[in-house]
Amino acid sequence: MEILETLYHEIVGFFSFGGLIEIIQTDNYKALLTQDGIGKALAPLIPVLLVIELIRAFFFQRLSFTQYKIAFFTYIFNRVVSRFISIGMVGICIGLFEPYAIFKSEFTWYWFIYGYVVWEFAHFIYHYLGHKVRLFWCLHSTHHASESMNLSITYAHFFLEGPYADIIRTTICILMGVNPPLLFLIMFIDGTWGAFIHIGENLVKDARLGFLNKIILTPSHHRVHHARNPLYMDTNFCNLLNIWDKVFGTLQDEKHEEEIEYGITRPMKSGDFWDAYFGEIILLAKDVYHAPTMKDKVLYIFMPPGWHHSGDHKTTSVVKKEYFATQKP
Ligand SMILES: [Zn+2]
Ligand SMILES: [Zn+2]
Repeated sequence: MEILETLYHEIVGFFSFGGLIEIIQTDNYKALLTQDGIGKALAPLIPVLLVIELIRAFFFQRLSFTQYKIAFFTYIFNRVVSRFISIGMVGICIGLFEPYAIFKSEFTWYWFIYGYVVWEFAHFIYHYLGHKVRLFWCLHSTHHASESMNLSITYAHFFLEGPYADIIRTTICILMGVNPPLLFLIMFIDGTWGAFIHIGENLVKDARLGFLNKIILTPSHHRVHHARNPLYMDTNFCNLLNIWDKVFGTLQDEKHEEEIEYGITRPMKSGDFWDAYFGEIILLAKDVYHAPTMKDKVLYIFMPPGWHHSGDHKTTSVVKKEYFATQKP
């Protein structure tokens, strides 16, 4: 019976039904007019969409377990880990850095715009470093390992990636004076959109979303981000607003003539959870171990993925340069 109870709590937890159930049980429907209540009501949106995506795939006979395997086992693994370790970096960073904020902002619409622009910048930094620093790539690569795109990828993250992202994003926002309640609202919007952009072809075939593709980052842009085609690699680091990708020259639209190939560039055991979760860490450990000098060992940890002590680099910049050289008429 205890197993059934645990299972019930896991399902309610996964679907984030807890908040809604509480509102219904306490008859407190007025709560739905508050920010907290809206959050509770919208929380089940992505898990429910994921189930719809699965059902559609099943009916159109396109459901393949391999496409969901890595995310499924990552979710289970992270649930088990979180029973032992839970690292709440957001609260810690707010407490530590609020006294050093350059100024204090308030909960108003114009500070909301300011906060969102700062948040996207902080997100860009965390995400860019996740691709360009080998150690951080070890934390982020699990999210890129899947060779297809669907909503389950939202849940595919190495367990230390969340704390790493939170430290960078929260610290930057708090130091830049973003008001903490405003930060939580931004995090909620960003989290919901950040999950939605993983919507798969089974639900939305062309994810450019019409004119929206010109003004924000759409699921199509995030599909491009998950691609291993040289043209698409290391682009679209932002989540909702594309300003920082525009500023840093990393914005890339999905091209009709360049079909997306999902996944990472190294050969992987297709759909293998252990390879997706620990593969990059093992490869980094091997490179550090075999590096001839102490300096090379350190460089392996902090240089971009693909860096080699011999000088024969296979980094994204090298791969892209070679690709563009072949494209010239
Ligand atoms: Zn990424
Ligand atoms: Zn993603």
